[in-house]
Amino acid sequence: MRHIFITGGVVSSLGKGLTSASLGMLLESRGYSVRMQKFDPYLNIDPGTMSPYQHGEVYVLDDGSETDLDLGHYERFTDAPLTRNSSWTSGKIYRNVLRRERRGRFLGKTVQVIPHITDEIKRAIRSLCDSDVDFVLTEIGGTVGDIESLPFLEAIRQFALDVGRANCLFIHLTLIPYLKSCNQLKTKPTQHSVSRLRQIGIQPDILVCRTETPFSDVERNKIALFCNLKTQDVIEECDAEFSIYEVPVTLHNNGLDKSVLNYFGYNLDEIMEPDLSCWYDILGRLRNPLGKVTIAVVGKYAKHKDAYKSIYESIDHAGIKYCTAIKVRGISSDSFSGGQLDDVDGILVPGGFGDRGVEGKIEAIKIAREKGIPFFGICLGMQCAVIEFARNVCGMSGANSMEFDQETPYPVITLLDEQRNIADKGGTMRLGAQVTILKEASKAFKSYGRNEISERHRHRYEFNNNYRVKFNEAGLMIAGTSPDGGLVEVVELKNHAWFVGVQYHPEFKSKPTKPHPLFDNFIAAAINYKKTK
Ligand code: GLN
Repeated sequence: MRHIFITGGVVSSLGKGLTSASLGMLLESRGYSVRMQKFDPYLNIDPGTMSPYQHGEVYVLDDGSETDLDLGHYERFTDAPLTRNSSWTSGKIYRNVLRRERRGRFLGKTVQVIPHITDEIKRAIRSLCDSDVDFVLTEIGGTVGDIESLPFLEAIRQFALDVGRANCLFIHLTLIPYLKSCNQLKTKPTQHSVSRLRQIGIQPDILVCRTETPFSDVERNKIALFCNLKTQDVIEECDAEFSIYEVPVTLHNNGLDKSVLNYFGYNLDEIMEPDLSCWYDILGRLRNPLGKVTIAVVGKYAKHKDAYKSIYESIDHAGIKYCTAIKVRGISSDSFSGGQLDDVDGILVPGGFGDRGVEGKIEAIKIAREKGIPFFGICLGMQCAVIEFARNVCGMSGANSMEFDQETPYPVITLLDEQRNIADKGGTMRLGAQVTILKEASKAFKSYGRNEISERHRHRYEFNNNYRVKFNEAGLMIAGTSPDGGLVEVVELKNHAWFVGVQYHPEFKSKPTKPHPLFDNFIAAAINYKKTK
C-alpha cells in the first residue's frame, strides 16, 4: 500500500481538495484502486452544525456522515467509496481519545497529544488500508504553520517512519503569486512554506504550484533548488480558465501522475497510460456549447458560491450532457421579487434550515407553478412547494412547516413523533442513504428508469401524512415514498411540464461523467421550455 499526503501552504483556499481529487482520478484512470480521506483541523466533531457562511455546503455520505465539501470533489472525480473513515476533524480525533480516557483504557498514563492524539490520527489513516487498495490519499486541511494542524503533520511524519519513507509521498500545494508592480512571479512564500514543513521533519517530494500565469524554467529551477527537489517534481497548476474539470487534465499534462508513480518506483514504460478520453469529451462540450439556458437558484445563500456547491456542479453535469451552457442566477430568497424570474428557463429551490427567506422561496415556487416554468425542489425546496400548494391551491391559509410556525392551523410539514424530544443538534436528523419507491406514472420514475432508488437524506421534518389524500385530489401527486409507504419522498404536480420536489439530496450523487437522472431531466425540461416559450 502506498500513501500520498497532501498538505497546503502560503494561503488557504488553494484547492487542495480539487488537486487531491484530480490525482485520485488520474491514478484510477491508470487502473489503480484508490481511497481518499480528509483531515480537518477544527474542533467541531463534524461540519454538520456549522453555518454555510463558515464552511460552505455540508456534504453527506451514504452512511450518513456529514462531511467537508472536498469529499464532494472526491466523489465527483473518483470511484473511491467514501465512509465516515474518509472524514476526520480534530474534534472527532480528540473525542475518540477522551472517550477511551474516561473508560480507563490508558491504565493510569498521562494522556498527551504525542503519542495518543497522533496514534489516533495514524489509526484513522490505517482505517482505509485494505489488501485491494493501491493508494490511500490523505488531504490535511488548513495551512502549514497553523497551530491547529500540527498534530496531523506530526502524525504523518511518524507514519512515514512506521511504514517506510518509500511508501509515503508528501505533496505540498503552494501559491506562486504574481506581483504586478515588478511583473514577476514570486517564489519566496513557497520557499518559506517548505522550510516550515522541513522544520517539523517533512521534506515534500512533489510541489504543486498554483499560479495565475505559467512559470518559466527559471522559476521552476529556482523553486526546485531552494526546496530541495528535482525540477520535474515541481508541477505547475495554472488557474483553470473556465471549469474545474480542466484541473485533472492540466495536472496530467504537467506530469503530476508521472512524478507520483516515478517516486514509488514504477517503470513508466510498463504501465498503462491514463484513459482521459471522457474528460477531454467533457472539456470539449464545455468549450463549445450548442445552446444556453438560465436557471434560477432561489436560496438563502444564493450569493455564497460554496453553500450550494454540489447543486451547482450537478446542474453543470446535466449541461455537459446536453452540450448546453447553463447560466445560474443565484437569487437571495430574503430579498426576492417576482421580476427576477422573468427570463429564466428553470427554477431550483435548494435545501436549508430556519425561516429566513422561506416566504421568498414560496413566492418563487408559486410563479413556477402558475407559469409552467420547470421547477426542482430539494429538501426544504420540496417542503416549500408543499406549503405553497396547501396555501394557494387547497385554500389552507397559514399552512406552514412546524419548523417555522408552531401554531400553524395546517402543519403540512411536521416532525415525526420520535424526533420531538431530541435536544442534541449534531447528527440527529434523518441522515444518509435510504430507499425510495417511485410511482410508475411519475416523472421521477421516467427520469431514473426504475422504481427503486436510494438517495441521501439530511433533514428533520417530514411531509404530514394527514394531508396526502387531500393534496392528491387537488393535483399534487405523491410520486415516491419510503418502502413501507410511511414517509413521503417525492411530490409532483400532475398538470405541469416538470415540477418535482424531493425530500432527499440528489446533488450528492451526480458526476460530470454521469449526471444525476433528476438534474438531467430538469435541465432537459428547461431546454424544452426555452424552445417553446
Ligand atoms: N429544514 C428542513 C428539515 O429539517 C429541511 C432540511 C434541508 O433542506 N436539508 O427538515
